[in-house]
Amino acid sequence: MSDDIQKHLRNAFEHAKAYRGQGRVADYIPALAKVDPSKFGMSLALPNGKFYCVGDATEPFSIQSVSKVFTLSLALERSGDDLWKSVGREPSGSSFNSIVQLETEGGIPRNPLINAGAIATTDRLMDGQSADDTAAEILAFMQERADDPSVFIDQEVASSEAATGSRNRSLAHFMEAFSNMRHPIETSLSVYFRQCAIAMSTRQLARAGLYLAFGGTDPISGKDIVSTEHCRHINAIMMGCGHYDNSGEFAYRVGLPGKSGVGGGILTIAPGRGAIAVWSPGLNDAGTSLVGSKALEHFVHALNWSIFT
Ligand code: GLU
Repeated sequence: MSDDIQKHLRNAFEHAKAYRGQGRVADYIPALAKVDPSKFGMSLALPNGKFYCVGDATEPFSIQSVSKVFTLSLALERSGDDLWKSVGREPSGSSFNSIVQLETEGGIPRNPLINAGAIATTDRLMDGQSADDTAAEILAFMQERADDPSVFIDQEVASSEAATGSRNRSLAHFMEAFSNMRHPIETSLSVYFRQCAIAMSTRQLARAGLYLAFGGTDPISGKDIVSTEHCRHINAIMMGCGHYDNSGEFAYRVGLPGKSGVGGGILTIAPGRGAIAVWSPGLNDAGTSLVGSKALEHFVHALNWSIFT
């Protein structure tokens, strides 16, 4: 079986490689525009501690919105259902940084995986602690989940996003106008920008996501990370909302809960089986890695791991 997995991974990689050059690297964050668009890596982490990797699987990249799954995990454990007063759990059907729904929906973002919802979630995580302590908590959480202290915040990316973050500032101010921000906008955003600037490889990211494939318990360390109920909820939200306005398409093609980021990374959870991470910087029109989605579609189908099969 393990030979089969490596073969399927290699096949998916070769299949998806043909699409390189068709996506567009995110350029609204200047530091991301510099990334080599030909990069492509993929990793599968299994509960027995085995990894399958191909391509640029050990090279760190900017995880961007994939971080939202992990801050959601922390915030849910901290605040429980109270979190749902600040943010919903419905797909938005709008782009990741859209402001339109906030106007008609009273400043409550649709879900924690679009920018507005993630900013509100990070703002909740700051309750009772400073911005620096919150950023340190998130980084430590990622290092522990990845079982690797080398995971870091790329300060150049964080500063680059802070310098060009008018859109996210607008979302935060808009929510503040509806009393849905508890902390000064710039302090909450400083944490949000830092969490998005966390740099990890696909190998580290796949390892980090394993607890979500095993009911909230890290299958390697045996540690309970989130409750079984929260794990189920996070996976449901990823399935409905993990890829902005192409979440339906991702569910249709890949059939697993996942989260993409504009750095070109995607984390995918195969419940009861493992976690898969892929990175290729060229994005489709909705901001999801184009080559990454193709590779996942191919690999997940070869393994027959879609939750709908
Ligand atoms: N840091 C990015 C932003 O706020 C995250 C977007 C994404 O990865 O979807 O625009």
